[in-house]
Amino acid sequence: MSDGGEGASFSGFFKSAALRLRRELEGVSASPGIGIGPAYVVDRRRVHVPRTKIEREAVEPEIQRFHEALRSCRQQLEQIKARLPHGEHRQILKAQQMMLRDPDLILRTENLIREELANAEWALTATTDQIIATLESADDKYFRERGSDIAFLTENVLQALLGDHPDELDPPAGAVVVAHDLSPADTARLHRCHVVGIVTGVGGRTSHSAIMARSLQIPAVVGIEDLLNGIDSGDLVVVDGVHGHIIIHPEPDEVAHHAAQRDRYNAFEQKVRKEHAFPAISIDGLHVTVRANLAITEELDLALRYGAEGVGLYRSEYMFMNRPALPTEEEHYRMAKLVLRRCAPYPVVFRTFDLGSDKSSELLDFEEETNPAMGMRSLRLALKERPMFLEQLRGFLRAGVHGPLAVMLPLVGSIDELEAGLAALEEAREQLASAGMAHAEDIAIGIMVETPAAAMIADILARRVDFISIGTNDLIQYTLAIDRENEAVAYLYQPLHPAILRLIKLVADAGLSNKVPVSLCGEMAADPRYTWVLIGLGITELSMHPSAIPVIKNIIRASSSEEMKALAERALQAQSGKQAEELVFAAMHARFPEHLLHGGGQGVGGGDPSA
Ligand code: PEP
Ligand code: MG
Repeated sequence: MSDGGEGASFSGFFKSAALRLRRELEGVSASPGIGIGPAYVVDRRRVHVPRTKIEREAVEPEIQRFHEALRSCRQQLEQIKARLPHGEHRQILKAQQMMLRDPDLILRTENLIREELANAEWALTATTDQIIATLESADDKYFRERGSDIAFLTENVLQALLGDHPDELDPPAGAVVVAHDLSPADTARLHRCHVVGIVTGVGGRTSHSAIMARSLQIPAVVGIEDLLNGIDSGDLVVVDGVHGHIIIHPEPDEVAHHAAQRDRYNAFEQKVRKEHAFPAISIDGLHVTVRANLAITEELDLALRYGAEGVGLYRSEYMFMNRPALPTEEEHYRMAKLVLRRCAPYPVVFRTFDLGSDKSSELLDFEEETNPAMGMRSLRLALKERPMFLEQLRGFLRAGVHGPLAVMLPLVGSIDELEAGLAALEEAREQLASAGMAHAEDIAIGIMVETPAAAMIADILARRVDFISIGTNDLIQYTLAIDRENEAVAYLYQPLHPAILRLIKLVADAGLSNKVPVSLCGEMAADPRYTWVLIGLGITELSMHPSAIPVIKNIIRASSSEEMKALAERALQAQSGKQAEELVFAAMHARFPEHLLHGGGQGVGGGDPSA
């Protein structure tokens, strides 16, 4: 029973048994809702291995396919070797070529294909998994290191078997996408696939993939440790984006329970959505403008359908992603014109490109930075890459003749930076005037307040602009010194931290005394737990991902400005974020239990996902 050949089949048996084991994993709720479907695993750590049963007559061709893949890998290694000078690397490659001829590896894989009617990919992985396990348990370091050589070779052969792009994102409708990480560009690509859930191993509530998932209304849970071990494409997964956990291979009663919850959730969503067109006027007459955050024009229809009174944040940096060349003035113009026309008479706030840090573009040569969040990004980058900045500004200004245009500068840190941004806008205007091109003269110009510095000089900045928008995603990151992409510190994300509440109040007061409207467009705006506090602090406009609009409007319509103000004042008195959370969440949960499931994440007292 213990010889090599039978051991391989045992490892296959245990592997498939383990794959069916029920597992419940905790993460961070990134987008509410419940999704149930088969997993679509995007494993970029290693090539994904599908497991299929082949027909008996397909055995010999399958073995042939396996040999061809081995041959192609040996040739690849030969080509690499030919380009290298003599020395150690050549020796390593030579050794790897020999491993690809290893009779034991070949024989065991062939046996699995024959005896288990397995496809070559799975047979090879089962064989090498076992060899690697043996090598890794060796005392000798040399043998342990050979384990990683085999793993590397296995990947190469699998690539050859599966084709060049085995993990390109193309999930079938109804699937749950499971990945260690998804770039914003990946998530944007999911827009057209009708997936029912997103699950990632890293990321926090304000990571851009999370924001994108919310905007696409796909239930999502992020920041799940050890996610990719023991999950395979096709495994049934429940994604509970309301409570922030997933279940792999759920029991039948759990599937039924979550399906019922999903249906109830969707029914409430439908009910609230029906009233989307009513304005958000409180019972005592306070009108709060509710606008949409957009990243791509495809989201526009959804925003209008959900009752957005314009666009409060258009993340124009997405124009620089997933494309072969930098966008031209003409392209900026066409995109902005389309959005302005569709939204008129409501205004559209185009944020100038907020690239750098977590939002990179393959089209720009970003320098390696030790601390990119504090590096060359946003307005700083725009001022450095002036021609690219002017190109965008000219496009926006030209589009401004088609609807009420507002231009917003991100990450303004000082009055000098603001003046430099305004000067660039003026230069773009002059360029258009001297070229005799039609453009808007009367536009609204605003800034984002995203750093404690900007919040503290909001009164100085307010005198030079038409509006201010608080970006709490970054404001919280910079004030509390927590990287918004780092799940290890996600538990410190406390929007109701006294420092944050005081800064928001400072900006709202500065706006009020300078007659400049203050909006808030960070993720806080979309979370019903914070609606009363924000309005109570003096925020008069909220901008959020479209799907959150109906619920937030509904809450405002059911509330009085007095009670919102009273809660904000009590929150301001709290000594800690936790204390403020307790009292605010308790008050909101008592009044809006159902609403809180729709965007509130962890529910009452659940601000700390590590608790
Ligand atoms: C913010 O920082 O709150 C914001 C809205 O901008 P982004 O999330 O795009 O950085
Ligand atoms: Mg920001």
